Amino acid sequence: MTPTAWHSPTVLLPTYVGKDFLMNNALTISPANSKDRGTPLEYTRNIGIVAHIDAGKTTTTERMLYYTGVVHKIGEVHDGNATTDWMEQERERGITITSAAISCEWTNEHGPFAGIRHKINIIDTPGHVDFTAEVERSLRVLDGAVGVFCAVAGVQPQSETVWRQMDKYNVPRIAFINKMDRTGADFFAAVEDIRSKLGGNAHPLFLPIGAEDRFAGLIDLIRMKAFLYHKEDDPMGKDYETTEIPSDLLELSKKYREALIEALADFDDSLAEKFLEGAEIEEDEINAAVRKATLSLDFLGVIPGTAFKNKGVQMLMDCIVDYMPNPLDLPPMVGHLDDGESQIEIKPDDSADLAGLAFKLATDPYVGKLVFFRVYQGELKKGSTLYNPRTRRKERISRLMVMKADARKDIEVAYSGDICAIIGAKDIVTGDTLCTRNLNVRLEPPTFPDPVISMSIEPATKADQEKLSLALQRLAEEDPTFVVKSDEETGQTIIAGMGELHLEILRDRLFREFKVQADAGKPQIAYRETIFRSAKGTGKFIRQSGGRGQYGHVEIVLEPLQRNEGYEFENKIVGGVIPREYIKPTEMGIKEGALNGIVAGYPVIDFRVRLVFGSFHEVDSSELAFKMAGIFAFKEAMKKANPAILEPIMKVEVSTPEESQGDIMGDLTRRRGQIQGMETKGNLTNITAFVPLETMFGYATDVRSLSKGRASYTMEPAHFEKVPARMEQKIVETFSREPARA
Ligand code: GDP
Repeated sequence: MTPTAWHSPTVLLPTYVGKDFLMNNALTISPANSKDRGTPLEYTRNIGIVAHIDAGKTTTTERMLYYTGVVHKIGEVHDGNATTDWMEQERERGITITSAAISCEWTNEHGPFAGIRHKINIIDTPGHVDFTAEVERSLRVLDGAVGVFCAVAGVQPQSETVWRQMDKYNVPRIAFINKMDRTGADFFAAVEDIRSKLGGNAHPLFLPIGAEDRFAGLIDLIRMKAFLYHKEDDPMGKDYETTEIPSDLLELSKKYREALIEALADFDDSLAEKFLEGAEIEEDEINAAVRKATLSLDFLGVIPGTAFKNKGVQMLMDCIVDYMPNPLDLPPMVGHLDDGESQIEIKPDDSADLAGLAFKLATDPYVGKLVFFRVYQGELKKGSTLYNPRTRRKERISRLMVMKADARKDIEVAYSGDICAIIGAKDIVTGDTLCTRNLNVRLEPPTFPDPVISMSIEPATKADQEKLSLALQRLAEEDPTFVVKSDEETGQTIIAGMGELHLEILRDRLFREFKVQADAGKPQIAYRETIFRSAKGTGKFIRQSGGRGQYGHVEIVLEPLQRNEGYEFENKIVGGVIPREYIKPTEMGIKEGALNGIVAGYPVIDFRVRLVFGSFHEVDSSELAFKMAGIFAFKEAMKKANPAILEPIMKVEVSTPEESQGDIMGDLTRRRGQIQGMETKGNLTNITAFVPLETMFGYATDVRSLSKGRASYTMEPAHFEKVPARMEQKIVETFSREPARA
C-alpha cells in the first residue's frame, strides 16, 4: 500500500517514553556527558506547561522566567505584555498557538540537586483543541510537563483533553494548583477533582496555609517545614520565611505526609518496608521515591500557589528540577533510514553523529525566520553543514541562538537534549530532521494530513497582491498543514487547512504580522473524487493544418484502488508504439487530468493507470501532444469508470460527563457519525466516532450546549468516504455555480 493522501497526525508521535524504561532508569544519575558542555544533560529539563485557557499558564511561565532572571520586568497578562505569547492575536483570543521554547536556569537550595544549576527549557504548548497536530508536535519534544489548574474551577474540559494526549504519549507530570488567592479557591477540592476526572494518583507534596485572601504560604510535606510569605506582592517571590508548621495545621500535615508516603511505597520497596515498620524515613529517600513515582507515570505530585501573587512558583521550580525527567531518563528515539524500512536508535550522546528535529518555525521581529530545533543526538555547531533528508540538500547553520524571553543569546553549539533556534535556514519546514550526511535518518515520518477545508483569498488592493503571495508562502513554510494553491480556471488563490479556526487564525496573522489586507471567501470542504470500476480511455491530440502539426495518441486502462492507496502508473507499451520519450509526458498529462475530476472538479485519488497502446507520427509528435492525449484519455476513461465524490471523514473524540453521554451520542448520529467506541474513566466517558466534516461546522458551540460546557472534543482528519447520492448532486450543483475549491 502506498500511503498518500491521508495520514492521521498521530503518526507524528512515537510512543517514545516507555513506562518500563522510565521506571528502570529513573535514578540513573551519572556524570556522563558533563565535559565542557555548559549544562550536563542530567541537569537539563525540557518541560511544557499545559493548562485550560485562563488557568494561569502564561502568568506562571512569566513568573518562572522572572525569578530565573531572564525577564527584568514582569509582564502581566492583562497588560498584553507576556513574554511567551508572541503573537498578538493570541493575547486577544487568550489562547497560545505557537510553540516557542524559552531557556532559563534555576538552582535548588535544598533537596537532591541542591546547589546545582539546572537548565530548564520551557516549551510553550498550544492550549486549543483545534491545533491537535501542534499540541502533539510540542508534546514530542518535551520530556515532562506541569499541569496548571485553577484552584476555583478545578479540572476544566480543556485540561482533560490535553491530559489524555499526555497519557497517550507517556509524559510525566506535576500539577500546580494556581489562583489560591481567589475567592472560592479550594486546594483539596481541586486535588479531588484531579483524582476523579483525570483518574490520577494525585498527592499533595505541599499543603496551602490558608486560602483566598488569607493564603499565606505553603507547607512542605517532605521536609515538614512551612514557608510563610511576608509581603502580599513580593515581585521576586523569595520573601518567605522558613518556619515550623503552624500548630493548627500540624495534624493535617502529618495525615497528608503519611498518605503521600503510603502512595510512594508502591513505587519503592525499601520505602515500603520502612513505612510498614513505622521507621524514620529520610528526606532524600522520599525525594527519590517521588521522582521514581512521577517518572512511572502513575503518580502526580500537587503543589498549591498563586502565580499572580508570587507564591509557590519557586517550590514548583524546585519540583521541576527534583522530579521531572532529564533527557537521559528517556528511551532512545526511533530514526527511520532511507530505505523506508530499517530503524536505528537515536540517543542523547554528544559524541555521536548529529540528528535532531525542527519542531516549530516562527518569525521573530528581530532576527527573522527561526527554526526551533531539538538536538536528539550529537552536537549542533554553528557554521556546520548538515543534511536534510527530505530535500536531500545540505543546509548550512550560520547562526544558532537560545531564546531567553526578552533576550536572544547567540551560541556556538547546542548539545544533545538541548533546544535551540536556528537562524537563517533556507529550506527547513516543520517536522524536518537535520542530521549528518552519513547518518541520513528521519526522526519523523515525513507526512502530514491533507487539508480538509479551503477558501479563496484575494488581496484587497492591487498593491497587496505581491505582499499576499509572499506572506502565504511564509505561512505555508511554517505550517505543513496549511496549503496554498491557485485555481487555474478562476485564477483565484486558494488556501486550505485543517479546520475553520485554523484558517481563521492564519488569516488573522496575514493581517497582523504581514500587514496584508485580504478578503476571503466562504470555507469550502476539500472533497476528492475517485472511480469505482475499471474503464478504458482513448486520447488523441491530432492537428494537421499545414506546417508542422501535432500528433499524440494514447490508450489507457483506468482501475480503482483502495482508499489511501494513492496513485500508480504502469507502462505496458510494447513494440515501441509510443516512443520512450513520450511516456513521461503522457503520464504528466494523466496526472494533470487527475487534478480536476469530471464530477465536480475535485482532485482524483486512489487509482491506477495502465498505458496500453497508442501511436505516433515521425514529424508531428511532440511532448505537448502526448501530454494533451494523456489528459483526454484520462477524462474519457474516468467518465466510464463510475466516478464519485469522496468527503473527508473526521475522527472525533468527545469526552463527556456520563449524564450528557446520551445527548452527545444522539447528536453525533444525526451528524451521520458512526460511533466506534466508548470508554469510561472516572465519571467521564470518551466517545470515538467517524463523522463527515460537512456536518461538523459549529460543533464547538453545540457540544458545549449539549453538555452545559463540560464536554470537550478533539477532531482530526481520518479518511475519505463516498458521499451519499443526494449530497453528491448538491455538491455538483454548487460547483457549477461557484467553482472555487481545493
Ligand atoms: P492562561 O490563559 O492559562 O495563559 O492564563 P493567564 O496567565 O493569561 O491568566 C488568566 C488570567 O488570570 C489573567 O488575568 C491573570 O492575571 C489571572 N491570573 C493568573 N494567575 C493568577 C493567580 O494566581 N491569581 C489570580 N487571582 N489571578 C491570576
